[in-house]
Order: sequence, then C-alpha cells, then structure tokens
Amino acid sequence: MKKTVLITGASRGIGKATAEKFAIEGYNVIINYYKSKDKALSLLEHLLSSGANAIAIQADVSDRKQVEEMFKEGYKKFGKIDVLVNNAGIADMTLFTDITEEQWKKFFDVNVNGMFNCCQCVLPKMISEKSGRIINVASIWGLVGASCETHYSATKGAIISFTKALAKELGPSNILVNAIAPGAVDTDMIAGVSEEILETIKNETPLQIIAKPEEIADVIYLLSTEETKLITGQVINPSGGFVIV
Ligand code: NAP
Repeated sequence: MKKTVLITGASRGIGKATAEKFAIEGYNVIINYYKSKDKALSLLEHLLSSGANAIAIQADVSDRKQVEEMFKEGYKKFGKIDVLVNNAGIADMTLFTDITEEQWKKFFDVNVNGMFNCCQCVLPKMISEKSGRIINVASIWGLVGASCETHYSATKGAIISFTKALAKELGPSNILVNAIAPGAVDTDMIAGVSEEILETIKNETPLQIIAKPEEIADVIYLLSTEETKLITGQVINPSGGFVIV
C-alpha cells in the first residue's frame, strides 16, 4: 500500500520541493497551502499529471479548527498519514526593540503553534498504529541565533526542543521525530537578502553554497526512509557546514 505524506506550507519553496520529492518516491501527497492557492493548484496539477496521487488543502496552520478539518479531509482521502512534515513558516528581519507584541505572537502562532496543532491531529492515529515519522523544519538560527531575528530564532529554538522532547515520548510507540536546521536556502524567504550578503554567506560556508530547496527536500525525505529508522530526536543540519555544532 502506498504511503502518505502531509506537508505544511507546500505551495512554495522547500515545502513544494518536498512534495515533488515524495511524489517521485511513490507517496500519496497532501499539499497544505494558505495564501498561495494558484501555486498550490499548479503543483497539484503537475503531481497528478506525473501520475502521483495528491490533494491540495487550504488551512492556516495556526488555526486549530482549520488544521482539524485538513486532517479530516486527508484521512478521508487516503485513510492514513505516515509522514508529517511541519514546514510552514514565516520570517522577517526586525530589530528586537522594534518587534511588536502582535508580531511576536504571530511568529509563535505560525512557526510553533502550527507544528503543535498538526502533531496533535496526526498523533492519535500514528500512536494506535505504532508507526509514523514527523519531520520539523527548524533553522540554523534556532541553534545559534541571528541578529535582528530574535523572534524567528526563538521559534526555531522552540521547534528544536519540542522535537527532542516529543521524540523521547513517542519512541516507545515507534514514532520517530526529527528536525532539520537548514542554512540559507534559495526561496522567496530570502528574496529580500542582498546579493552582497548572500555572497558573504557563501564565502563563510565550508561547502561554498546557498542550498537549493530540492537539496533540503532530499534530506527531509531521507528522514522518512527505512535507512534512518534509528535516528530520532536529532537536528540534522544541511547548511553546508555554515554552522557546525
Ligand atoms: P517560503 O518560500 O517563504 O514558503 C513558506 C511556506 O509557508 C509557503 O508555502 C506558505 O504558504 C507557508 N505558510 C506561511 N504561513 C502559513 C500558515 N499560517 N499556514 C500554512 N502555511 C503557511 O519559505 P521556505 O524558505 O520554503 O521555508 C520553509 C521552511 O523552511 C520555513 O519553516 C522556514 O523557516 C524554513 N527555513 C528556510 C530557510 C531559507 O533560507 N529559505 C532556512 C532555514 C529554514 P502560502 O504561500 O500558501 O501562504
């Protein structure tokens, strides 16, 4: 029987590349999107025309009701969700003293509570089946912190500690929980970063790269495979060596 993956924030960037990777590997794919309906639908069309089974579901991950509806629809279509990729996220650069209360709350609502909502909706079935994989997309800034991104760094640090704690709790149920912490990845999220800064990041990266979303998708997929069945509670850092901890 085909396995099923649900990827949040799969309309663009890393999420989209991850949807394409899992589809190529024979998974049923549930594409979650929020605002980019056209992009999500064109990805859906592409996956369907390549012979994959897929659906696209709109939901704001920070809204518990919408997330519950999304999982209901996903289970109705495919019966089972084997892999959950918590990828949806927001970022910006703001001086700490300029961050508004509303902005701080919004970052936690989307980046952290979104992951919490999706995990709570997927886990009852995973636990009863004693099988499942959860992959949370953090960031190197969750490991080492970024200036002018305290709000973003704090959410990514929360994702990392959440991942470690949940992995301990779910290990006996044969559910593996890991996080990935990419460095700079060439998506809309870094579109506002100047060429000069990107060049500096590249030069300070041992592998001298800015990652492509497809390369990050490969690492996410790897964490769903049989070959990584002993890895849980880990933070895999595909940053080309930009951060080595
Ligand atoms: P992106 O191109 O900006 O895409 C962000 C995705 O998140 C979009 O699909 C967007 O959906 C979705 N999203 C945002 N708010 C949402 C919400 N409330 N509910 C559901 N979906 C929502 O970003 P990306 O670079 O692919 O980033 C993906 C993940 O990787 C994020 O968690 C990010 O923090 C992490 N990351 C990125 C980098 C990087 O350099 N790019 C580095 C490290 C970690 P819609 O467009 O449909 O609204």
